[in-house]
Amino acid sequence: MKGVALVTGAASGIGEECAKSFVEEGCVGVIFADIDLDRAEEAAESALASVNSTSARSRVLALKVDVSDPTSVDSMVSKAVGAFGRIDYCVHSAGVGAQQPSSILNMSSAEFEDSQSINITGTFNVIKAVGRQMVTQTPLAETTRRGAKMSRGSIVALASCHSFAAARNLSQYITSKHAVLGLTRSAALDLASHGIRVNAVCPGWVDTPMVSKAASGIPEIRNYIEKLVPFGRMAETQEVSEVVLFLSSSRASFVTGAAWVVDGGLTRRVFTST
Ligand code: NAD
Repeated sequence: MKGVALVTGAASGIGEECAKSFVEEGCVGVIFADIDLDRAEEAAESALASVNSTSARSRVLALKVDVSDPTSVDSMVSKAVGAFGRIDYCVHSAGVGAQQPSSILNMSSAEFEDSQSINITGTFNVIKAVGRQMVTQTPLAETTRRGAKMSRGSIVALASCHSFAAARNLSQYITSKHAVLGLTRSAALDLASHGIRVNAVCPGWVDTPMVSKAASGIPEIRNYIEKLVPFGRMAETQEVSEVVLFLSSSRASFVTGAAWVVDGGLTRRVFTST
């Protein structure tokens, strides 16, 4: 993959792994964007350090962004384009889990609104700003086993297995992740005539700081995951980034508006006594 990649939420977890993978793929530029600029800078440095120094090196750039703020998102896109001239792949991984799990009967409006402004409005802001940039670009020729394929851009949003199914005490998060999938599908249709693909990846449990934070008050959660997930474990971040990279690449040139579930079978199971 030779183009320019922009990853939000790149300071941690799935976003950090995706940004690192774009560096490993040899993209000419990789932007690590996050609300935590110090951590994004560390992640960018560490990704560069992990790549063999003799191979072609990407240039990296860390940017501060608050995805819930359209002005901040527009500024991120214009700085990225100022540095690298274009954006070919965008992975939108910035998001928040449930800060305070509780029944809808006790959930504060502020808690509910916070999740929606980061997870839903953030997704809208990023797809809109990146999409507006991509439509102006000349397509990029990507080499595949069967010759060159032209791509004007790909956007992958991190949705969740909670985009399809609910769980108790998480209505703020579950509402937001259902909406992320709706936005992805709508944007896919709006951008298809421009040759831009928009897809969602829907993980189950992934071993990241977001999950450690959620599990910190519930010590038995790892046991619970082992019992519920057919593979008996959480995903590693790399198992998600591999799917994100496939969807970003021209190997997925006819895939748009899709929701790729990466959950170790969690949402396929039927509960029985055995
Ligand atoms: P994480 O907490 O490790 O990383 C999220 C990153 O987003 C952090 O670096 C954080 O600073 C950044 N961020 C938060 N608010 C922001 C804002 N307003 N602007 C810019 N950056 C912001 O989380 P993760 O587990 O890597 O999750 C990444 C995405 O994947 C999220 O959308 C999450 O909902 C989704 N997801 C995660 C899991 C899981 O089990 N970890 C499962 C399903 C879906």
